[in-house]
Amino acid sequence: MPIKVLSEDLINKIAAGEVVERPASVVKELVENSLDAQASRIIIDIQDSGKKLIRVTDNGKGMTQEDAKKSILRHATSKLQNELDLYSISTLGFRGEALASISAVSQVSIITKTQNEFAGFNLIIEAGSTISSGIIAAEQGTTIEIRNIFFNTPARKKFLKSDSVELRHIIDVITHYALCYPNISFKLTHEGHILLNSPAMEDQQDNIGTIYGASTAKKLLKLEYENEFLKISGYIGAPYDARNDKNQQAFFVNKRWIKNQELSKAVYEGYHSMLFVGKHPTFVLDLTLDPQKVDVNIHPQKTEIKIEESTLVNKSLQEAIKKTLREYNLIPIVNVEEQLTFGRPTVKSSKKETKYAYEQSEQAVLHVREKPVITTKEQLSSVLNAALEEDSNENSVVYQQPQVEIHTTKFPSLKILGQIHKTFFVAETEGGLFYLDQHATHERVLYEKFMQQYLGQNVEIQTLLQPDIIEFSSKEKILVEEHQHKLNEYGFRLEHFGQNSYVLKTKPLLFNRLQSSEILKEFLDTLSTGRNTLEEFQEIIITRMACRSAHMAGEELTTTQMNLVIKELAKCKDPFTCPHGRPTMIKVESNELEKKFRRCH
Ligand code: ADP
Ligand code: MG
Repeated sequence: MPIKVLSEDLINKIAAGEVVERPASVVKELVENSLDAQASRIIIDIQDSGKKLIRVTDNGKGMTQEDAKKSILRHATSKLQNELDLYSISTLGFRGEALASISAVSQVSIITKTQNEFAGFNLIIEAGSTISSGIIAAEQGTTIEIRNIFFNTPARKKFLKSDSVELRHIIDVITHYALCYPNISFKLTHEGHILLNSPAMEDQQDNIGTIYGASTAKKLLKLEYENEFLKISGYIGAPYDARNDKNQQAFFVNKRWIKNQELSKAVYEGYHSMLFVGKHPTFVLDLTLDPQKVDVNIHPQKTEIKIEESTLVNKSLQEAIKKTLREYNLIPIVNVEEQLTFGRPTVKSSKKETKYAYEQSEQAVLHVREKPVITTKEQLSSVLNAALEEDSNENSVVYQQPQVEIHTTKFPSLKILGQIHKTFFVAETEGGLFYLDQHATHERVLYEKFMQQYLGQNVEIQTLLQPDIIEFSSKEKILVEEHQHKLNEYGFRLEHFGQNSYVLKTKPLLFNRLQSSEILKEFLDTLSTGRNTLEEFQEIIITRMACRSAHMAGEELTTTQMNLVIKELAKCKDPFTCPHGRPTMIKVESNELEKKFRRCH
């Protein structure tokens, strides 16, 4: 066949295939146009899940007659004036192809009026050709009606999903824009029924309340973060309020709703080890970046973007999440009147309860002085001499007077009262008491301590006096040979001992309770899948080792041991959850006890 230049009509139809995937894509393009036209009120009316009618009415700038006629031409836009504009886009649209594509595959009516014109202008288009145009009475703004989408592209129509799926996609679009633009009023109706009504609001949290529900919004944590590359603002959910689905997650970059795997991953990494497996946090986050660093021109639907220096952006986002979670004191509180449930701490309540004096005992773990770190021989001998002197003086008090340590985290001051069922610690604190899960608590401590050693490349090792001999399978042996260096990094030194046997010479000191052969086999097994990134691997293996060597439920501990664990926990960055996201401690407030004993007046 000879080469033929395609007709404009056919070009538009082809382009429509990319821009207009489904009714929701039309809704998105029209709403974006209304936002670009600075509307403060956008009404979206839908019939038959968008297949019969999509009507978007705004009170924005409107178009002149000339512009209205041009608006449906391909590559006609008022948003780019020259090539330079393409590299710093500040509007949602810029490609000038949405109206052209939409009108190529449907019947369109545009009614529009600018502030300066007396009357409105109406344009009717079908399959890309203007059918009629004329003057019409109208308010300032634009109403665009799309009827019978894909009426002339039956193949595309056939690919539409069920009505409820298509409608859900439309709701998704409006929900996201309503979340991102709290000061704009959005109303979405289907067959005359209101599906979403989000009036203009000053406060973003109230706005989230109209969309995700007031009870969810109330519990969200405010996030605000800024550094030299970007600004992030919005709200995130507490880890223990995480959901089973990802339906309450929204990212905006420069006020554009986008989907981006890497940003999403950065958020989860920010929650790192605080989320239960399979749980998803709620977040509504708005990232503001220099538009020159964001390329939105990589896909006709403009939902995917490319960010320059994305590693820095991802790191910042991760940091912002971490910082916010730490700023809030995320200890679950128990209400003894009801079921044991997790709630937000009511920090103030302890203030009222001054009648219960909380005195820190000498055992109060946070007040024990740190041992000096010995790094040189001189230091070692001076410490030894001091110890000898103390030994020779029988009357000397070995216990040091408590010294107050200041912690940046809001870790509560605790006085251990004992252990119950060989599983939980009970501790008194200001305004109530804490139950701590001994396994989860110790797990967190080991995890963070090891992680710090590992990242600092100074994993402390223990040389085994009686080296373990470990028998590997042939497949495992290959992995041992290949990854010997990595095993060393984690503190496991293996020496070949003939055939498939190895002698284990050292273990990581922190995990000296580990069954070495078992963990080494898991180590190799995790490596052999090759599915994880280095960081994921490190996460999996360190979490597992911490879990295996932490105090188990059923293990009897002395007060000294309990105090030691709590002292270490107080130094952790994320002391309130174990690395799997379960809480380490829960608080019962004194006023809850009063209620239970009917001491309330
Ligand atoms: P783009 O948004 O990429 O410029 P579109 O095809 O979506 O391309 O729209 C073409 C032009 O029509 C826009 O640049 C804008 O000038 C005008 N336009 C479209 N919708 C509206 C609206 N709701 N209000 C005012 N102008 C509009
Ligand atoms: Mg547009």
